[in-house]
Amino acid sequence: MTDSTSRSAPCVAVIGGGPAGLMAAEVLAAGGAHVELFDAMPSVGRKFLLAGVGGMNITHSEAKAPFLARYREREQEIAALLADFDAEALRAWIHGLGIDTFVGTSGRVFPTDMKAAPLLRAWLKRLRETGVAIHTRSRWMGWDASGALRIAGADGERLLQADACVLALGGGSWARLGSDGAWVPLLEQRGVEVSTLRPANSGFEVAGWSEHLRGKFAGAPLKNVTLALDGEPSRRGEFVLTEHGIEGSLVYALSAAIRQRIEQDGSALVRLDLQPDRSIDKVEALLSKPRGSASMAKHLHRQLGLDGAKAALLRELTSAEDFTDMPRLARAIKALPIELLYTRPLDEAISSAGGVTFAALDQNLMLRQLPGTFCAGEMLDWEAPTGGYLLTACFASGRVAGLGALQWLRQRGAL
Ligand SMILES: Cc1cc2nc3c(=O)[nH]c(=O)nc-3n(C[C@H](O)[C@H](O)[C@H](O)COP(=O)(O)OP(=O)(O)OC[C@H]3O[C@@H](n4cnc5c(N)ncnc54)[C@H](O)[C@@H]3O)c2cc1C
Repeated sequence: MTDSTSRSAPCVAVIGGGPAGLMAAEVLAAGGAHVELFDAMPSVGRKFLLAGVGGMNITHSEAKAPFLARYREREQEIAALLADFDAEALRAWIHGLGIDTFVGTSGRVFPTDMKAAPLLRAWLKRLRETGVAIHTRSRWMGWDASGALRIAGADGERLLQADACVLALGGGSWARLGSDGAWVPLLEQRGVEVSTLRPANSGFEVAGWSEHLRGKFAGAPLKNVTLALDGEPSRRGEFVLTEHGIEGSLVYALSAAIRQRIEQDGSALVRLDLQPDRSIDKVEALLSKPRGSASMAKHLHRQLGLDGAKAALLRELTSAEDFTDMPRLARAIKALPIELLYTRPLDEAISSAGGVTFAALDQNLMLRQLPGTFCAGEMLDWEAPTGGYLLTACFASGRVAGLGALQWLRQRGAL
């Protein structure tokens, strides 16, 4: 490992090789710093690669105002991070790596081949060419008494006295991919305010599905439905029934509000519209058509196209009497109440809420308690639904932290 004193360029340690850390490394290397990047895992970008498995949704094409509103309580802070590197800039940057992008019907932006691996490969090649030294299987353990970074590798622990440091350690979900949240006590011990890591974009649990629903429909998708929670704009899309309750993109879109409602009230009542393209009057009129000798299941299928998981969930959450009273059944189809009691565990979540608070950071994402140490990515205290908003803010914050570190080095005459 190189000590900063042995070279003319200042040495910046980047800890964490996810999108935020790699972006910080890129900016730092371009700005003339010598970058040493450390990651605890045998390879970098593992969560980024996983995000690419179901189709790498890297950003979103919607207009700036609704885009920024996705960051809810942190809209202002994230707007500042995206001011210089927004969704458009991110797309241009991806194109610069030789990867084309396209906008899907939902407005989400994907690399043309939908994969993360080619992008990561091209990026790592470019980073190495610009001199970024990447050390895998190297876990940051905190600082020693002199302020040197403690890095544990296969051959024991080493100390690095870097001129500046960017921490991009991720959140606390999918610990097996590297982001295990073990950094929280390390920063708290140094007086850094960290808001508890909580599941974001997670599933939720109901009191318990029936044996029938669990056995036959766990894993089944419900497509083209609308989900509503009081006080929130209702959302349209699809979700999945699980062993315990519900999950999937439509649930994730409301998951911050649902989680907050559960924290506050002990449960959250969401309402599902199984026929978003029909008015309640139309649904009632169709249900009221004579069904002759047909079973109710057939009638629902014929008149409304309701069958499979949708029909099973309707059965699960209504009474036998509801099925004899068409106005009541129509109301249930248009606003089926699902009571959610628990948030699924953090490790299962797509991302984390909570993290290093913005109050603990200056506008360049430098820790006020630890001058010269910057933070970026999901480890900061913000959250967003899936749809590319997570990666967009990770990339942008990595850039701000990298540029902030360069400015800090310049101010000290180190660069
Ligand atoms: C299944 C899944 C699908 C997703 N799909 C999408 C999507 O389509 N679109 C989207 O925008 N987002 C998606 N995400 C979220 C996105 O992948 C993350 O928000 C993003 O990767 C976070 O980037 P990061 O750089 O902050 O942290 P991470 O990518 O988590 O990287 C942190 C790195 O730090 C390393 N590290 C942690 N602690 C230490 C330590 N002490 N020492 C050394 N190294 C350490 C880890 O090994 C890891 O490599 C998805 C996530 C999951 C789990």
